[in-house]
Amino acid sequence: MFEFGSWASDWWKPLLFLVVAGHLTNVCVTLFLHRAQTHRGVKFHPIAEVPMRVWLWLTTATKTKEWVACHRKHHAFADREGDPHSPVVEGLRNIMLKGALYYRDAVRQPGVLEKYGKGTPNDWLERHLLDKRSTFGILLMLAVDLWLFGWFVGPLVWAVQMVWIPFWAAGVINGIGHALGYRNYEVKDESRNITPIAIWLGGEELHNNHHADPHSARFGHKWYEFDIGWAYIRLLSLVGLAQVKYARGVEGHDRDRGEDPTARVVAAANAAPAPALAAPAGAAPAA
Ligand SMILES: [Zn+2]
Ligand SMILES: [Zn+2]
Repeated sequence: MFEFGSWASDWWKPLLFLVVAGHLTNVCVTLFLHRAQTHRGVKFHPIAEVPMRVWLWLTTATKTKEWVACHRKHHAFADREGDPHSPVVEGLRNIMLKGALYYRDAVRQPGVLEKYGKGTPNDWLERHLLDKRSTFGILLMLAVDLWLFGWFVGPLVWAVQMVWIPFWAAGVINGIGHALGYRNYEVKDESRNITPIAIWLGGEELHNNHHADPHSARFGHKWYEFDIGWAYIRLLSLVGLAQVKYARGVEGHDRDRGEDPTARVVAAANAAPAPALAAPAGAAPAA
């Protein structure tokens, strides 16, 4: 079964692998990087968390602190100047095609990681492997793909894996999720729910709901909306591997609001004076 190149024997095997591995990557992004690390709506047991971190290392080379910082800054300045990836500011085409470049530029800006990336893991695993040797993971993945699929199909499978998150997350969620779809909430930004049945992107399709209540670990707000990420969280909490801090509309979890560090940076960004809206000198104070 694990002989060199044996998984390329049927055409559907590499495809099935890509679908399963890709969905897993999407789920690790939404559960670990987004709902747990960025917004603290849920906390995972190390038995669940470490495999998610390692899988993200193998398939995306994403550094947790960078992802969290970029995303918190997105919430702080959503769809206005300062947003690392707004289709309203930069154009949908640019975000769809070059989303990963906007991400890279954002996390390289001086001070961004310190200001927006607080509280991400700083353990041995992070310091010595996941952060310090972030490219080693994707090279290891290349070796695995070569072993499973051989010299010809292996590199193709790997290439698709490498553009996976730049396309689905940086392109589709950050682009379409702020441009096309329906809105349940008239929030200040242009966020949209791409589809009510949110499976493929792990629930991230419900992006307008998320912007309306970022701390919530549950993204489905209406009865007809399904968030598969929340289903996974429920399963993990059933076996004691996840602890929900806050979930909108869920009995027992809808009051304990804990704290979303993102709320602080959003409040600070909103408190900064907006020159265009400043009252003219000598104007009567608002009643
Ligand atoms: Zn957004
Ligand atoms: Zn968010």
